[in-house]
Amino acid sequence: MDTLTYLATPIEYLKGVGPRRSDILKNEFNIVTFNDLLHYYPFRHVDKSTVYQIADIQTEGLYMQFKGKIVSFEILGEHRAKRLAAKFTDGTGNLDLVWFNGIKWVEDILKQQSSFIVFGRVTAFNNRWNISHPELIDPQNRTENAIAQRFYPLYNTSEKAKKAGLDSKTVAKLTASLLTQIHGEMPEILSTNIISQHHLISLKSALFAIHYPENQEQLAQAQLRLKFDELFFTQLKLLKLKLLVTKKNKGHVFARVGDFFNDFYHRCLTFDLTSAQKRVIREIRRDMSSGQQMNRLLQGDVGSGKTITALLVMLIAKDNGFQSCLMAPTEILAAQHFENISKQLSTMNVTVAILTGSTKTAQRKQIHQRLQNGEIDILIGTHALIENDVIFNNLGLAVIDEQHRFGVEQRAKLWKKNIIPPHILVMTATPIPRTLAMTVYGDLELSVIDELPKGRKPVITKHLYEKDRLMLFGFIKKQIDIGRQVFVVYPLIKESEKMDLLDLQAGFDNMSRAFPLPQYAIGMVHGKMKNEVKEFEMQRFAKNQTSILLSTTVIEVGIDIPNATVMIIENAERFGLSQLHQLRGRVGRGGEQSYCILMSGDKLSNEGKQRLQAMVATTDGFEIANFDLKLRGPGDLQGTQQSGIIDFKIADIIKDEQLVVYTRNLAKKLLETDPDLKATENQSIAKQLQLLIRQDNFWGMIS
Ligand code: ADP
Ligand code: MG
Repeated sequence: MDTLTYLATPIEYLKGVGPRRSDILKNEFNIVTFNDLLHYYPFRHVDKSTVYQIADIQTEGLYMQFKGKIVSFEILGEHRAKRLAAKFTDGTGNLDLVWFNGIKWVEDILKQQSSFIVFGRVTAFNNRWNISHPELIDPQNRTENAIAQRFYPLYNTSEKAKKAGLDSKTVAKLTASLLTQIHGEMPEILSTNIISQHHLISLKSALFAIHYPENQEQLAQAQLRLKFDELFFTQLKLLKLKLLVTKKNKGHVFARVGDFFNDFYHRCLTFDLTSAQKRVIREIRRDMSSGQQMNRLLQGDVGSGKTITALLVMLIAKDNGFQSCLMAPTEILAAQHFENISKQLSTMNVTVAILTGSTKTAQRKQIHQRLQNGEIDILIGTHALIENDVIFNNLGLAVIDEQHRFGVEQRAKLWKKNIIPPHILVMTATPIPRTLAMTVYGDLELSVIDELPKGRKPVITKHLYEKDRLMLFGFIKKQIDIGRQVFVVYPLIKESEKMDLLDLQAGFDNMSRAFPLPQYAIGMVHGKMKNEVKEFEMQRFAKNQTSILLSTTVIEVGIDIPNATVMIIENAERFGLSQLHQLRGRVGRGGEQSYCILMSGDKLSNEGKQRLQAMVATTDGFEIANFDLKLRGPGDLQGTQQSGIIDFKIADIIKDEQLVVYTRNLAKKLLETDPDLKATENQSIAKQLQLLIRQDNFWGMIS
């Protein structure tokens, strides 16, 4: 049997697995075949290549290995406290060993022999060094030693897996036994050229060494090879997708900029565009007149003016006889876009409509009809826009606001709304570093608005504690007295939404006492409210009929109320940095000085403190995003989870930044010279790419 066929064997048939464990491996770790186990990499290695001396122990918490003798052992305690305690020495010092489980079994071993290599995590207990449940290795046993005295892999497992006996140690045994059974050659997935050019080790060596390296050097080589594979194929997949889309998808040609655009630009626009906005519009225009479908990501910090940019572009669509749509992640945001855009276009002959989940049936039918016969020029809405029964007359441009709530698949749904797919403009306020954008949105072109409109005063940010609350109330009063408005946001903290509402309610009661009617009016919105009620409350605030708005995080994205100058965030330490930044972006939108007050409890974790300090220190979204990445890693970054592609096994998009850029260029060059991967030299790559694409069902997204 060749190696590939062998590796395709269901995991159930590996010795030591069986049906029960195979179910767990499948459900918990997605390990279905031998091959999957081979690619289940350890998250860390313990260096067992060194035998330490007990006298060398400096701190607790490290995994270490010692060679010596058990001097004595005894069974102590009863019932649940029953344990086997042994004293161990290597001549340089003493170590206590203790077992709470498997006592009988260990006792039998200790009765037979006294010399061992012991291995485990050293802790300090009663002023003595201690290892609980150490591994006992027989120095005479060659096979045990062969694995034991090298680098020892540690695997992530779960509670469920551990209950079925699948702890890290057991997984290590499984990988060890699998590796000893692979004798044949393993086919390469890269070309010989690439392998030799980049001095990569073979796939087979890498897979062996990633589990059981002989030394640091070998481990590093294995990591490099597997990271290279992962990043290279990710980029290849994305670029191939982009290539297919552009080849397959001819675009509508928006050849002209006509009266609608010009009239609006010269007559209705009340401010000058920033040069960044102008540049981005030029980039978009170039795409839209090229004859190919545009797929562009527009990135710009909160308040940088993405919406007006999108509106201008939608007017170009109108100038060329096409409809456009603007999709927002929430009803509130869709309603606000509708309101603003309708107002801005009030003196122009452009028809705007809104369609959301809460649009009444009769109205919905009417919109469907007007859309289909081309009466509606701009349709604004939520996910409701991509429903199958929404049929456009001639959709030419689709704008998606705040992309981080949408995935690739939803984008693909929009492509199908016209025979020639519409141009797609995705807008996001999440400032993502370039390498990340390259990967998460690798199939999109990137435009950046890196400039805020003139005259914006940076929001002053302060971190206050509970003891400062009276002072805070005084400050709020002053702001309201000069006509300004205030947001107060509560985090989702309790397990249930019900409990969170109680928190919000308590906050409301508190604020109502401090800011009584009729002098002050307070509004409240939260996710559990009916849409009409929520909408009503938002409108009251927008019209300055309430001066304080309490909410859970529903206001997070995009709300534009220039008269609101104070953003108070309760329990700010519970929010992520990007969320705090988004929230702060709700104020500072008019010409007035604005403030963001971060309220926190007195007890703060180190990380919590750092986050709040970062917010006080800068208002630059990019700086904050970079800080966030360092603090939390990319997995948590907003907008990356749904994308799926960021889910790397071994590569780290931040730490391996250079490799990301490198493999992207390599993949690009490869597709430029051999777009269909037809060359003999590239067959192994083509095969692997096919496999990955089939797994991801990428074709489904674009056909
Ligand atoms: P975001 O990028 O967060 O979506 P918006 O498009 O909501 O930002 O713009 C924020 C506010 O700034 C809006 O009130 C908008 O009218 C205003 N604005 C946009 N561009 C400019 C500009 N060039 N000069 C002045 N104000 C602008
Ligand atoms: Mg916006």
